[in-house]
Amino acid sequence: MTVTDPTRVLVTGGAGFIGSHYVRALLASDAEPVEVTVLDALTYAGCPANLDPVRSDPRFSFVHGDIRDATLVDRLLARHDQVVHLAAETHVDRSIAGAADFVTTNVTGTHTLLDAAVRHGVAVFVQVSTDEVYGSIEAGSWPETDPLRPNSPYAASKASADLLALAQHRTHGLDVRITRCSNNYGPRQFPEKLIPLFLTRLFGGRPVPLYGDGRQMRDWLHVSDHVHGIELVRRGGRPGEVYNIGGGTELTNRELTGLLLDACGAGWDLVQEVPDRKGHDLRYSVDCGKIAAELGYAPRVDFAAGLAATVDWYRRHRDWWEPLLPVQAGVVGPR
Ligand code: NAD
Repeated sequence: MTVTDPTRVLVTGGAGFIGSHYVRALLASDAEPVEVTVLDALTYAGCPANLDPVRSDPRFSFVHGDIRDATLVDRLLARHDQVVHLAAETHVDRSIAGAADFVTTNVTGTHTLLDAAVRHGVAVFVQVSTDEVYGSIEAGSWPETDPLRPNSPYAASKASADLLALAQHRTHGLDVRITRCSNNYGPRQFPEKLIPLFLTRLFGGRPVPLYGDGRQMRDWLHVSDHVHGIELVRRGGRPGEVYNIGGGTELTNRELTGLLLDACGAGWDLVQEVPDRKGHDLRYSVDCGKIAAELGYAPRVDFAAGLAATVDWYRRHRDWWEPLLPVQAGVVGPR
């Protein structure tokens, strides 16, 4: 590659929520010349329309395929410089109902990508992970050095993938960089996750489920801040390092429910307290000191403004989410 050649970035899961925001931001940025290939299996969570704004960009291409397909992955990694790996089964409730796809996609699929990345000398491999790998914390925040104590099958599958990625760094010197973020929100999130699930129900005057006593506490991160954090790590992170990414707004699910009810002009009569999720983690909280100090990360979206814009987006984009409601009717519940 000469200095003028574009960096060829393979983005897995680019038709999903965060992946589509990432791809659109990457192609909109003039920080560096890039060519972007999305590899996505278009599971129930993948939405081709999420990529419509970049579809005709000559620097963009889409491959409909599975990260577990070793032949395809090998062929793709032979012609890419970097990987940003987001493809995953992502909904905790689904992993509790049945974890097989979580193991094959999140663990075996990640292994398949890492294996090919080593074989083809990929320059940078960003593994997009989650704060859930750390378990649950009653007070304080996790630094990246804390041990992994995942509780749900989803979290365990992501922790396994993180460990495989770090092993490929230590064993083969692959430049792996891991990001672990908190709860994302924003436009185009599949309406099985808490915020879009509640909004799409409340818009129709339908009840929303609140797990247990609603005291579970989460940190909320606007998807554009997450994308910014991933980009900082891809461009400036250090090989073999883990970077937490948070949003700085901690709310209990009950507090967040109150905000969503207010935003939709609905009352608590629409809230149904349902039995708590099995093994539900009480609180997640990441310490973002490392990415702030090393890469200058700070969340930029004010939560109240970000939430208002998200509510507005779902209000104006029924055409996006209404066709997904039959899928939503399967396993639903807040993340
Ligand atoms: P999403 O469910 O919206 O999208 C996942 C995408 O991956 C979909 O487009 C789907 O079609 C694709 N995919 C699934 N299995 C695949 C396979 N076997 N091969 C190829 N593609 C496949 O997910 P998201 O919320 O955008 O999350 C993206 C990443 O960020 C995931 O790795 C997730 O673990 C991580 N993450 C998400 C959050 C969050 O709040 N949403 C928080 C922490 C970490």
